[in-house]
Amino acid sequence: MPGLQQVDIKRVERILNIVLDEVKPPVARCRLLSSGFAPYHTFQVTENLEGFKGCIGCGNCIDACPVLAREPRRRDKTPQRTSFALEALVAEDCDRCSNCVLVCPQVDTTIKHYIVNTRMVEGMARLLKKVDSDEEIFYAMSQ
Ligand code: SF4
Ligand code: SF4
Repeated sequence: MPGLQQVDIKRVERILNIVLDEVKPPVARCRLLSSGFAPYHTFQVTENLEGFKGCIGCGNCIDACPVLAREPRRRDKTPQRTSFALEALVAEDCDRCSNCVLVCPQVDTTIKHYIVNTRMVEGMARLLKKVDSDEEIFYAMSQ
């Protein structure tokens, strides 16, 4: 039975780090770096399913984004639940937490493991700092 071929991280590591260092939602570009199903990697079931790495509009990335959780009114701009909407709603305010990549069913596990192993400690520290500064602003405004 053919298996899902995951992207070899060594092949994409350099460009993946460029994507992850940019202050904008990374999930769409991580999808594109994922290997996807080659034509001969289909599920031979009744429906003969074939996979692809396009956005399926599941909305996982929207739901997992801390920027949208902190500022839910941003979501009023569009009801769409795609990576395109995520990019429009978050843009350069991205926290670079990589949550959107980790929850996306269209991103290869090899890419997710790379992020967990190399980026999560730094990302959590950055988020905690951000939460602290937001709380300080909120406290100052409420005085
Ligand atoms: S989930 Fe994190 S990395 Fe993705 S767009 Fe939101 S803040 Fe940026
Ligand atoms: S999590 Fe869902 S909506 Fe977001 S990029 Fe992946 S497939 Fe598209």
